[in-house]
Amino acid sequence: MRDLETIVGPENVLTDPAYLATYTRDISIVQETWPEAVVRPAFTVEVQRIMRWANKYKVPVFVTSGSCYQGYGGVTSLTPGCLVLDLGRMNRILEINDKLYYVVIEPGVTYRQLVKEFDEKYPHLILDVIGGSPEASVLGNAISRGVGHTWWPYAEHFECVCGMEVVLPTGEVVRTGSGQLSGSKSWHLFKWGYGPWIDGIFTQSNFGVVTKIGLWVAPRPEAYDWFVIACPKEEQVGEMLEFTGKVMIRGIIGGGATIGNALSSLSANITYPWEINGGTAPLPDEWIQEKAEEHGVGAYNLFGGIYGTEEMVELRWKQLKEIMRDYPNLYIMDRDMALRHAEFAHRVLYDHLGYPHRSLFGWAHWRGGGLSFYSPIAPFTREDALKMQEIGKKITAKWGFDYMMKYVSGLRAIHHVGLLTYKVPDEVERARHCFLDLIKTYMDHGYYPYRCNPWADDYILSRLDAGYLKVITKIKRALDPNNILMPGYYCPEVIE
Ligand SMILES: Cc1cc2nc3c(=O)[nH]c(=O)nc-3n(C[C@H](O)[C@H](O)[C@H](O)COP(=O)(O)OP(=O)(O)OC[C@H]3O[C@@H](n4cnc5c(N)ncnc54)[C@H](O)[C@@H]3O)c2cc1C
Repeated sequence: MRDLETIVGPENVLTDPAYLATYTRDISIVQETWPEAVVRPAFTVEVQRIMRWANKYKVPVFVTSGSCYQGYGGVTSLTPGCLVLDLGRMNRILEINDKLYYVVIEPGVTYRQLVKEFDEKYPHLILDVIGGSPEASVLGNAISRGVGHTWWPYAEHFECVCGMEVVLPTGEVVRTGSGQLSGSKSWHLFKWGYGPWIDGIFTQSNFGVVTKIGLWVAPRPEAYDWFVIACPKEEQVGEMLEFTGKVMIRGIIGGGATIGNALSSLSANITYPWEINGGTAPLPDEWIQEKAEEHGVGAYNLFGGIYGTEEMVELRWKQLKEIMRDYPNLYIMDRDMALRHAEFAHRVLYDHLGYPHRSLFGWAHWRGGGLSFYSPIAPFTREDALKMQEIGKKITAKWGFDYMMKYVSGLRAIHHVGLLTYKVPDEVERARHCFLDLIKTYMDHGYYPYRCNPWADDYILSRLDAGYLKVITKIKRALDPNNILMPGYYCPEVIE
């Protein structure tokens, strides 16, 4: 501890249980796990020294940049007694290039911070934001391969990462992409560099601590318009998904378009009706439908943005309406009615324009504090949409929960972000069983989680291709011979 204090100053090595408590778990199903201490470096060189120290004493290190990793698991959830490396003090915006539209940021830079900077000094730039906390780390989300809500490619955050600085588990620094050449003029402009491209191995991984990224940001479009397209019946979800794929692939709507089922939107407006069945069974379909009608919500609702110049927006509206003719069950919701609904309004007036907010945290409060995301990927087809729904409804009902979900759009496939909500602590154990059952069943049908809670890591890894696992474990062993950086995180610990 004295060594660590020498590296970062005593005020940045924290062991007070009241402080450590915030790192023990997030709102998801992870087990509460206590770290030994939290260390808060301010510079890359301090991160290097900490990693060398950790190797010397064989202390496992878990990293957080935003410290609130909500819904996908806590930072320390794998190894009790570890050291948490909290990069929140490394929160410098190192460069904003508003001619070539990129930023260079450290891990502690939050969505709120970067958006504020844009608003005050660079109103012609737009940052794609997440539906999660405005205090989340922009870098942390990009390297978790999170997705946002404006348009492609910006909504697929890792797609826009260009050039990284990474501290390896043994303390050396590596610069990726065109950063290979000292003094390179294109580090944050040309991704691929020369030879094998290694950036991907530092995402969803325990191969390094990312201390800097270049991130492409978008020019604020001249014109923007929005819509909410709904379908009245849940069996029409297949049409909704197929339609979304068509307008996405043709570039008619922005990439971060979101579809949600009725309950996932209603939960923003009403409280959970415990009086119906005490939470032991899913809410009846008739009740959901009745409430959906009362609140003007479809069985599924697609919120989309159309961006470009005035002429482009007009043309894209025309194209969208033409494609809609093939889908008579879908309808465009009246705009005033859509804006009266809390979630729809936040989506189309904030998310789509790059302003983060906390309104979706209603999901966690809906049933009593618990929210865990399970996120299998689905192709844009009718059959897959129906299968996803069938599995989700069946398995959540089996464990007495409700099927609540969002689809967040990709370019060829879509992220089915399931929202498992439950009461803490009473329903946590049941939620864990349900969560694993969902992951297993979706995987059995070929639906792969795009990202997952560390709590289910072992199970997911056990299902992956042996050749792939061999490669990643070899890389891990080479880069982290003492297995001290986030052991077990997205990579098996037992190496053949
Ligand atoms: C209501 C709600 C809505 C949400 N909506 C979205 C959404 O629209 N899109 C989305 O993508 N997510 C969403 N999320 C999930 C979550 O909030 C985000 O993914 C968010 O980015 C988590 O950030 P963080 O700052 O809390 O975590 P971080 O501290 O950034 O950690 C993220 C992960 O990356 C690792 N990590 C962090 N920094 C580093 C580093 N420097 N080097 C190596 N590894 C590192 C951590 O160990 C951790 O596993 C939502 C969550 C909630 C509760």
